[in-house]
Amino acid sequence: MSEGSTRRQFIDRSMRVIGFAGIAGAAGLLSSRVSGDAVYQIDPFKCTSCDLCRTSCVLSLSAVKAVNDFAKCGYCMLCPAYMDVTSQPDEKGIPAGKICPQDALKRRIVGKVDEEDPNNNYYEYYVDEARCDGCGKCVKACLPPAGNGSLRLEIRYTYCVECNECAILVKCPDNAIVRVPAPGLTPAGSHREEANA
Ligand code: SF4
Ligand code: SF4
Ligand code: SF4
Repeated sequence: MSEGSTRRQFIDRSMRVIGFAGIAGAAGLLSSRVSGDAVYQIDPFKCTSCDLCRTSCVLSLSAVKAVNDFAKCGYCMLCPAYMDVTSQPDEKGIPAGKICPQDALKRRIVGKVDEEDPNNNYYEYYVDEARCDGCGKCVKACLPPAGNGSLRLEIRYTYCVECNECAILVKCPDNAIVRVPAPGLTPAGSHREEANA
């Protein structure tokens, strides 16, 4: 796959994630904040989850949150991003420690439930954004080969106040903060149609 098409997919996916979060609300908020036609976002192909998103955002709880791409997630019982697989096991033999310092990565069983053997269940992992501070520990722990790489960091537009110059952009050692078309403001409107599909 070419670099160009990969970046195109990143921008398209950013718009889709905005759609999941409620594109109408996000677009309304943004249109009242941005003067241009673009917003800040994280390029997941450059981001190294260095922890500066947690400490550099002007907000006391960073606007950067982890998000899980369910299409890539393995729904594993033993998720290395959810539990510290090196920690002491509980009475059922499951590692008791968690990776997330904020207890922001949650899980729920989906599909048919096997009460006897948790190994037979599928778990959907999701982020409590009111707790997540964008530290990126779960993102790192999900990287292959341990995980599927389904977790990534994103600027969430319901929280971001669209600073004139993003304070994270100034600090980011990997130049991973980029400008992408603002939802609802792109001339062609194709992203919005995709997000609503
Ligand atoms: S500062 Fe840059 S590299 Fe570090 S977590 Fe944020 S976007 Fe990723
Ligand atoms: S980014 Fe940090 S705070 Fe957010 S869910 Fe992952 S480990 Fe928890
Ligand atoms: S633009 Fe401001 S509020 Fe938004 S992520 Fe950057 S520093 Fe945080």
